[in-house]
Amino acid sequence: TAPSVMTMNGHFAGVGENGTSAEDFEHGVQIIDSEKIFNENLGAYLQQERIIRSGFNYHLISVFGSQSTGKSTLLNYLFGTRFGVMSEQERRQTTKGIWMSRNKNEGGEKGKGMAENILVMDVEGTDGRERGEDQDFERKSALFALATSEVLIVNIWEHQVGLYQGANMGLLKTVFEVNLQLFLKDAKSVPRSLLFFVIRDHLGTTPLNNLKQTLIQDLQKIWSGLSKPTGMDKAKIEDYFDFAFVALPHKILQPEKFEQEVHRLGTRFREGYNDPKRKGLVDEQSEPILLPEYHRRIPADGFPMYARGIWEQIDSNKDLDLPTQQELLAQFRCDEISKEVLVPFDEVIAPLEEQQSQAVAAGTSSTIAQLGKVMATARSALLAAFEEEASRYHKGVFKRKQAELETKVDGRLKALFQGQMTAAHKSGLNDFSEAVTQAVKTGQKKGGNYDFHKIVQTEKDKALKRFEAEAQGSLVSGTPWSDYKSQMNLFRKELDEVSGRLRKEEMRRLANRSERWVRAKLDESVGLEFNKLGSGRGGSGAPAEGQKPATERDLWDRIWSVFTDTVSHAESRFTDRARSFDASPDEVEVGLWRLRRKSWAALRSKIDEEMMEGNLLLKLRENFEDKFRYDDEGVPRIWRPTDDIEGLYTRARESTLELIPLLSHFKLARTSSPPPLDAWIGEAPPNVTAADEEDLSPIGGVDDDEGKTLAEEMTLLSDAKTSDLSTRFRKTADGVYVEAKRSAIGGVTQ
Ligand code: GDP
Ligand code: MG
Repeated sequence: TAPSVMTMNGHFAGVGENGTSAEDFEHGVQIIDSEKIFNENLGAYLQQERIIRSGFNYHLISVFGSQSTGKSTLLNYLFGTRFGVMSEQERRQTTKGIWMSRNKNEGGEKGKGMAENILVMDVEGTDGRERGEDQDFERKSALFALATSEVLIVNIWEHQVGLYQGANMGLLKTVFEVNLQLFLKDAKSVPRSLLFFVIRDHLGTTPLNNLKQTLIQDLQKIWSGLSKPTGMDKAKIEDYFDFAFVALPHKILQPEKFEQEVHRLGTRFREGYNDPKRKGLVDEQSEPILLPEYHRRIPADGFPMYARGIWEQIDSNKDLDLPTQQELLAQFRCDEISKEVLVPFDEVIAPLEEQQSQAVAAGTSSTIAQLGKVMATARSALLAAFEEEASRYHKGVFKRKQAELETKVDGRLKALFQGQMTAAHKSGLNDFSEAVTQAVKTGQKKGGNYDFHKIVQTEKDKALKRFEAEAQGSLVSGTPWSDYKSQMNLFRKELDEVSGRLRKEEMRRLANRSERWVRAKLDESVGLEFNKLGSGRGGSGAPAEGQKPATERDLWDRIWSVFTDTVSHAESRFTDRARSFDASPDEVEVGLWRLRRKSWAALRSKIDEEMMEGNLLLKLRENFEDKFRYDDEGVPRIWRPTDDIEGLYTRARESTLELIPLLSHFKLARTSSPPPLDAWIGEAPPNVTAADEEDLSPIGGVDDDEGKTLAEEMTLLSDAKTSDLSTRFRKTADGVYVEAKRSAIGGVTQ
């Protein structure tokens, strides 16, 4: 797409927006029309001529002189322009206002040796005397040309030379006055200019040198006649102007020589070097005339706006203030350039901002890949483009606008960076906790012998490394906000918090494992103890080898001791594991306390299971049968009628019946009281939380406020149940007895 050009009101305007086209510019562009109105299409013209982007690489030349002295003709010859020329027949003014055209000879045969991008301004036949009324325009156009042009061509007929009172001299007086005015404002912003006298219709009888001397004398006269501002009374004309002179042959009488000389003149419109030795006068007839010191240093893209500002000031008869104009221009253009360079920046950055805000809205936390690189590239491209375009303008303004742009852009990039850090933070914590959970799961599958502490450490290291890499990949080096230390610290802190939470979960898992282990152990060992009840000879039979005699009376002692042994074994394993992953002493203490309570609950439920009526009756029956149907040697009895069946029955029955009250209370034989459950469980640790207590069931005698005593906790069968059980057992025993009786009788009949 064609690059756009800035119009005066600050909008981008492509060529032709205002209906302009190449044809409209056939004769160049009329910058100031006969109504003294500035033409807003100047930018479009510079755009069409591809000068707008050339920075300082352009030149501006104006031509002055009385009306009908062949100025337009000269320009058209020199620069291939098509300024209107008065026809030989109707002698009326053709050029109105100020026209501008680009050097059309550039790139062609005729333009050989010429500088690039020469713009020429054809100023209306400034001849107040001839036009009578309009000295105002003469002054204004002179001021305008002087404020903008490097070279002022003064076009005069040879026969006008020496006519000090001539119209041209009036014009030059104006130029000098105006120049002094400008200098008064700010010497720095008014460079030297070249006054280039082109003497037309040179017959050759008077050598150029003589004409030159005459003109210089006249110029000096004008200069000394000027009333100079105070402090400038000693100023010399050479301090402000260089002078060059050239004579051209008569165009109509010597057309070939004329063209030849014009061509030679054209080659002088090339760039040269400032020569400090030269004092005002450019003597050499082939010397280049476009010196850097003449350049107005208004970047081409700012020229339309600058020219308009200057013209408006001139036209409203305000004091022309070039420094202010240049600052205003710089502000305006720097703002425009900021907008321009933000376009490609936005193309890259805005979608990322959008992506980030959408992710935030959706609650996801994905990071943007290569963010740092993308941001750095966009940022440096923007700053470089800004610098290239804007640094040509007023330095102070440029620096300020550059800082503004940088602040603006960095604000956005910083927000992106922080968003990225937030996302990395969130996903980092998630990934961390998932990785730990996963590793624990794998460890559990492999038999549970995993090192939780190590898992956490490894994953934490990984998470920190990932975070740091993400942070580093999101930085733009050289920016003041490119620091992630605080984010990193926050991340580390929250990792620790998540670790703490995971450790609590692991504690809970460990507790569950310990509880399960205790339950399984108790299931087995308590079951075994109850099974022993089935063998009625527990009290009197010979003990199995290596075992303590298992008496029915110390059943609860054995269960209590098996229970406490088991739990204490589980406790020490729990403590070891918990310490291995840095659980705090407090956490361990709570864990153990819970484990003891849960273990007690497990024991109670195991006992309750064993004590279910059906189970218990079976055990009692086995116990009784063992006592009744087997002799002391463990040999089954064959009942004979002579046997004291009744006696044996009664003894066995009574012995078994004694078990029932024994079973109905968890009471140690040693102390004839319940086991010291309250002391064994211990006081609740001070830092037990509601969550810790949530799944605990109350224990009588331990939890005071439950209103249940330890004795009640230890009551396994109520009195009613006890007597009911005795009755049922008796019936069962009776059945066995009857059967024995029958078999004794049956044995006789055989
Ligand atoms: P301007 O008003 O100064 O721009 O003058 P123009 O270029 O319109 O020319 C005015 C008249 O002078 C025209 O009729 C031209 O043909 C004629 N003219 C142009 N150049 C010369 C020249 O070098 N010598 C003479 N004698 N006439 C010229
Ligand atoms: Mg003209």
